[in-house]
Amino acid sequence: MKFSVLASGSSGNALYIETDNTRLLVDAGLSGKQLGGRLAQIGVNPESLTAILVTHEHIDHVKGLGVMARRYQLPIYLNEATYQHLPSSVGDIPTSMLHFMDTGSSISIADIGVQSIPISHDAAEPMGFRFFEKDESMAIVTDLGYVNERIIQSLDGVHSLIWESNHDVNMLRMGSYPWNVKRRILGDTGHLSNEDSAIGLLEIIKGLGEQVYLAHLSQDNNLLELAHLTVKNMLEEAGLQVGKDIVLKETYPDRPTPLQNVKMQSAIVSA
Ligand SMILES: [Zn+2]
Ligand SMILES: [Zn+2]
Repeated sequence: MKFSVLASGSSGNALYIETDNTRLLVDAGLSGKQLGGRLAQIGVNPESLTAILVTHEHIDHVKGLGVMARRYQLPIYLNEATYQHLPSSVGDIPTSMLHFMDTGSSISIADIGVQSIPISHDAAEPMGFRFFEKDESMAIVTDLGYVNERIIQSLDGVHSLIWESNHDVNMLRMGSYPWNVKRRILGDTGHLSNEDSAIGLLEIIKGLGEQVYLAHLSQDNNLLELAHLTVKNMLEEAGLQVGKDIVLKETYPDRPTPLQNVKMQSAIVSA
């Protein structure tokens, strides 16, 4: 299984995952044209996609959903509450293209096992996803207010993880956002701060060389270096060797990450 984070941040989110037989898009939060461009950058023809999965209905996750689904005749996997709350700009989607999955359930899309994970966020019924192929697994969990036991258990043994590190609490507090917006972001249905991101990782990561992509960084209340350094320092204070026990990677709003194998660092080193 390989993947690329095509876009990450409040301006748009999309993840691409492939196996030999299956090609998935998780969220489509850029325009159809931009998504086509990002896929081209990693050498993927959108005509070859198998399906689109949707985590939740916020526009930074569904902006190009309708266009992509209609243009390439792609089945959409999502829960019913998310479907009911899709913004009207997504446009009409033929019911034959809709595949409802219950939050917390597991399904298969061709050779990829998909487990949905309920998360707390100010959307109708938001989900994270974990993906399995053979003995490899990866997951995406962003857009969440806090980390609970269910999430930690659901991510047990994951090899590659796309994980929210949304904001620096001080930048958010000092920044220009109105108080109600600040309160929303900081609340239980908002977004994970850099510190909470690290605290969550310490519960999930076993130190076996897992790859963690810090994702959904706020463009106003965070900096790439600050997120990386805050998480790195907290992991190292807890005794993990960053770069060996855990590999921290970056994601970008304006470009895709290189297509990467789902593997732990130790497996890469010994291979
Ligand atoms: Zn959201
Ligand atoms: Zn989002």
